[in-house]
Amino acid sequence: MPDRNEDLFAHAREVIPGGVNSPVRAYGSVGGTPRFLAKAAGPYVTDAAGREYIDLVASWGPALLGHAHPEVVEAVREAASLGLSFGAPTEGEVELAELVAQRVTAGGLKPIDRVRLVSTGTEATMTAIRLARGVTGRDLLVKFAGNYHGHSDGLLAEAGSGVATLALPGSAGVPAPIAAQTLVVPYGDLDLVRAVFSEHGDRIAAIIVEAAPANMGVVAPAPGFNAGLVEIAHSAGALVILDEVLTGFRVHPAGYWGLEVERGSSYEPDIFTFGKVIGGGMPLAALGARAEIMDQLAPAGPVYQAGTLSGNPLSVAAGLATLRLATPEVYARVDAAAARVADALSDALAAAGVAHAVPRAGNLFGLVFAPAAPADYAQAQAQEAWRYRPFFHAMLEEGVSLPPSVFEAWFLTAAHDDAVLERIAQALPRAARAAAAA
Ligand code: PMP
Repeated sequence: MPDRNEDLFAHAREVIPGGVNSPVRAYGSVGGTPRFLAKAAGPYVTDAAGREYIDLVASWGPALLGHAHPEVVEAVREAASLGLSFGAPTEGEVELAELVAQRVTAGGLKPIDRVRLVSTGTEATMTAIRLARGVTGRDLLVKFAGNYHGHSDGLLAEAGSGVATLALPGSAGVPAPIAAQTLVVPYGDLDLVRAVFSEHGDRIAAIIVEAAPANMGVVAPAPGFNAGLVEIAHSAGALVILDEVLTGFRVHPAGYWGLEVERGSSYEPDIFTFGKVIGGGMPLAALGARAEIMDQLAPAGPVYQAGTLSGNPLSVAAGLATLRLATPEVYARVDAAAARVADALSDALAAAGVAHAVPRAGNLFGLVFAPAAPADYAQAQAQEAWRYRPFFHAMLEEGVSLPPSVFEAWFLTAAHDDAVLERIAQALPRAARAAAAA
């Protein structure tokens, strides 16, 4: 007898393309029926058939405190009682902008004076790029293969062969001349970036980079890589956009940048982008930079950007409550939980004799079916990815919901307590054996 998830998926495919509103939710690479979720609390999600799972997706990052933290829900409820959306400035927006600028400080550096709130990470990076082009008067953008920055036209560009290709579109519907404004470079090699700048330097507006890549699996940047990008860009009059949509306020109170500066790598990117945790589970994202850059945005300056629901009061309430609750103790908890699951994962795969790596970047980690952690997209793609399908489904049967793609990070929350972590550890050996048998 089909269960409720199967019924819903069949119906969904009739009225929603592919049955989902964001592609990876469709279980395309792991196969099977996606779980339609009905509710979530703390470390758990519950599907439409009433089955509860320990969740390691955390809404793809936002649920740093765990799902539906009572104080965050209460803040949203209170905001809702005062009106859902005004399309006018509010006091909460000012508080949130100030909180972001204050938190993103480290090593005596304070690279953000002003913040613009938007609704999605895609809008944040799209606006950051327009701003960089407006500030520099240049058109070209450098991005790294395997780095994801949302789905705006110019960012859906993939690398061809060679050091840097004037990119071909990575999606139908993207005009070739737009994709050709993006130079795609393999991740991690500063010499390749220098080579691109020596050829095109006076036409490059910005480099955009994930602070720590987590969309080709997790790849920790080599110490000095991000700092090196800033040096190369600045010596050519270009800017660096550090994309912290995924890492910001998740790996450290001041983002991955804060973590790196604390570890002794001092550098100052020009524009930061944030999303996910900053909205505490509601649609909210942001970009931030020093005043002279941010004041180029309309209405202060000539670079246009707008949004009917930007700075929505419910999202701002969730974001403020989440960031205020995200104390150093919360990060210590999430770090410890992540380390414990990463170790248990590695132990289980080793015991089952599966070649694997569990790369980590702060409290982010991922699973790679290859003997060594990949350094770039080509290496990430070369792994034995087919082993993930049986691994994923074995975990699901054990009641643990993982990201439905081997190229995604696993997300812990402060609500994953000892008992929950122990249950994850107990589920892993069977999944590891299933991966070994694939
Ligand atoms: N940048 C990064 C690094 C991301 O991981 C994502 C989403 N996973 C985005 C940008 C796009 O954010 P959104 O999905 O909110 O548009």
